[in-house]
Amino acid sequence: ALTGSADAVSSERKDDLPMHVLSNTKVGILGGGQLGKMMCQAASCMAIKVLTLDPLEKSPASGLSYCHVVGDFNDGEAVREFAKRCDLVTIEIEHVDAVMLEKLEQQGIDCQPKASTIKIIQDKYLQKYHFSQHGIPLPEFMQIDNIESAERAGSLYGYPLMIKCRRLAYDGRGNAVAHSKEELSSAVAALGGFDRALYVERWTPFVKELSVIVARGRDGCISCYPVVETIHKNNICHIVEAPADVPEKIKELSLDVAQKAVSSLEGAGIFAVELFLTGDGQVLLNEVAPRPHNSGHHTIESCYTSQYEQHLRAVLGLPLGDPSMKTPAAIMYNILGEDEGEPGLRLAHELIGRALKVPGASIHWYDKPDMRKLRKMGHITITGPSMNIVKARLDSMLNKDQSETT
Ligand code: ATP
Ligand code: MG
Ligand code: MG
Repeated sequence: ALTGSADAVSSERKDDLPMHVLSNTKVGILGGGQLGKMMCQAASCMAIKVLTLDPLEKSPASGLSYCHVVGDFNDGEAVREFAKRCDLVTIEIEHVDAVMLEKLEQQGIDCQPKASTIKIIQDKYLQKYHFSQHGIPLPEFMQIDNIESAERAGSLYGYPLMIKCRRLAYDGRGNAVAHSKEELSSAVAALGGFDRALYVERWTPFVKELSVIVARGRDGCISCYPVVETIHKNNICHIVEAPADVPEKIKELSLDVAQKAVSSLEGAGIFAVELFLTGDGQVLLNEVAPRPHNSGHHTIESCYTSQYEQHLRAVLGLPLGDPSMKTPAAIMYNILGEDEGEPGLRLAHELIGRALKVPGASIHWYDKPDMRKLRKMGHITITGPSMNIVKARLDSMLNKDQSETT
């Protein structure tokens, strides 16, 4: 019998039917955070069996996956054991053991996107090198190994200078800015020193940050979502506006850069391409995520096919769905922890309370085990008949405007 209990952690349901109308393939996701949770939600609509691997027993996806396995996706043995139980492995985080995935691929495990792609992306320096070799426009960059090479980079690129960790970066946590030569050593120290592999990028004085979600099917066909604008707060994605308010020419250029970048990588699935738009109309690549992405959360409510459903369709080899918007405008607002523990929870609770009264607002609470400052705790997507109306609805949700909007 089906037991939907959230306590059924690590226990597999024994009700396998011989046939599934869509796919009998068991999809294993490395990671069980909010992206995994939203993949599980999409899978549930189509009754696709999804297994998740995450170190947390009560991770956001754990209660929704067909089978949640507790284990470290960065530990080769855990990944190997997990992969044995799946017909196909995909990711919701790129910081996984890609070397093990490559070995497993050689043994016949189906990994989408390919381990080679995850290997390139998870090392941001390697990623930049890869895209520069493929003629994708991006900010100049170079590796630094010691204070002398950092100073050389500073005199070459000028200040401010962006210093980044090559690995394990997310939400800007692996980035530090040096505003002068004197600040170089403290910025490097803030990232953990030269023991962590670092590189630098020329500062890009962008006018906007844009993002394109690209889907690629197993047959290689590519489909792009509309260009969106991402607005960051403390290096963390905070607000996404869909569609982006930029000239048609810029949209075309963004789609072109995004498609070119994705075409240089192997495997099926969703890829998010983060871009900088400069004052003189250039579109430069910031980074690519080889998975569903924060800048595509809005697609759940605003597009005919969400990025999560599209990812499943892509990795399973099903026809890709329609990525176009079914609502004229949408804004996604990340609920970032404003405080630790109870006080932070109270503020989030108040925000959600206001969101419940806003027309067109959909609430996503990830149910993470604890509230932390600047942690992504949930998000709210507001849709509406025009961007101005959606913006007014956002203002009323944030209490910036006392007047009711409809
Ligand atoms: P994510 O959560 O998107 O994976 P991350 O930790 O990988 O974040 P980046 O995307 O490298 O970090 O950078 C975070 C933000 O820092 C960017 O969205 C942008 O606002 C700013 N930034 C990054 N690189 C540069 C640059 N070269 N010049 C100016 N600003 C930059
Ligand atoms: Mg990143
Ligand atoms: Mg980024």
